[in-house]
Amino acid sequence: MHELSVCQGLLREVARMAAEHDAVAVDRIVLQVGGLSGVEPPLLERAFEVARAGTLAEAAELEIRAGPVVVLCRECGSRGEVPVNRLLCPGCGDWRVEVVEGEELLLLTIDMETV
Ligand SMILES: [Zn+2]
Repeated sequence: MHELSVCQGLLREVARMAAEHDAVAVDRIVLQVGGLSGVEPPLLERAFEVARAGTLAEAAELEIRAGPVVVLCRECGSRGEVPVNRLLCPGCGDWRVEVVEGEELLLLTIDMETV
């Protein structure tokens, strides 16, 4: 399951940041998931339940925000947000666009408890 390895990578990053701040627990993790990242938020939530066991984020709440899909047109140079299922230039309607945002998975916020 792809989402589980995504979660494990995420939790490694969270653990690294928690260690940097001498945190004893993580309360909340806010994640931005791009529409083209290939990650399904409901599956990610379920994988998180499994992956967080025994980590500092064991009791953490996971908030997933859908990120925008932004394209840049190779024809006219327009740049704008488009629906995931309609990757066309927002300016001229051409299909020769480059995805500049939407494939990423971003860790936006981590709320930690320190002593
Ligand atoms: Zn265009």
